[in-house]
Amino acid sequence: MRITSLGSGSRGNSTLIEDKDTCILVDLGFTLKEIEKRLRRVDRSPDDITAVLVTHEHADHISGVAPFARKYKTPVYLTPGTYNEQRMGLVPKLVRINCHRSFVLGSLAIEPVAVPHDAREPCQYVISSGGLSIGVLTDLGHITPHVERHYEACDALLLECNHDLQMLADGPYPYSLQQRVGGPRGHLNNLQAAELLRKVDLRRLQHLVVSHISEKNNAPHLALNAVNAVLDAEASGWQGQLRVAQQDIGFDWLELNPG
Ligand SMILES: [Zn+2]
Ligand SMILES: [Zn+2]
Repeated sequence: MRITSLGSGSRGNSTLIEDKDTCILVDLGFTLKEIEKRLRRVDRSPDDITAVLVTHEHADHISGVAPFARKYKTPVYLTPGTYNEQRMGLVPKLVRINCHRSFVLGSLAIEPVAVPHDAREPCQYVISSGGLSIGVLTDLGHITPHVERHYEACDALLLECNHDLQMLADGPYPYSLQQRVGGPRGHLNNLQAAELLRKVDLRRLQHLVVSHISEKNNAPHLALNAVNAVLDAEASGWQGQLRVAQQDIGFDWLELNPG
């Protein structure tokens, strides 16, 4: 199983997960032209895509979903609350999922996980095959026990480090937006992300990707400092690879090694 990103951040998100002949996109927050270009960069074409999974209806996650699905007849999986025809546009092959029920797509087992975020019915995903699991976890205001339980044993984890608390407070956002972003249904700050890492099996984690970093309210080195404080602790057992997902180029393919 392997994973790459076409881009990550408030100007657009899309993650690609591939196993044998199953290849899925989690979110498509770019224009059609941009998606086609970014897929070429990771040596994939739109016809390779088995399905698109959507996490929630914010524009940075769905702006390209319907145009892509109409052009390439790709099935789209999302929660009933996430789909709004007026907002997303017509989707020819729509599959409404229960965010508390797993399902299978080709060789991949998909586990949706409900998260606290200011959207109608948001979920994130843990995707597994052959005993390996990839967790995609962005766009949530805090870590719930439910989230903790689902993400404690991942082999790769894309983890939101949206903002630094001080930069958010000192930054350009009006007070109401600061409250929303930093609130319990907003986005994870660097310390909240680091806190989750104390609860997960770091020995198992091969790849950690710091994701959905705010360009206005965070800096990659601050996010890395926060997570490294946990990873570098003696007895953490961490031996994996750490990287940052970028807005413009995401990150290159990461291969998961069988345990
Ligand atoms: Zn987002
Ligand atoms: Zn969002």
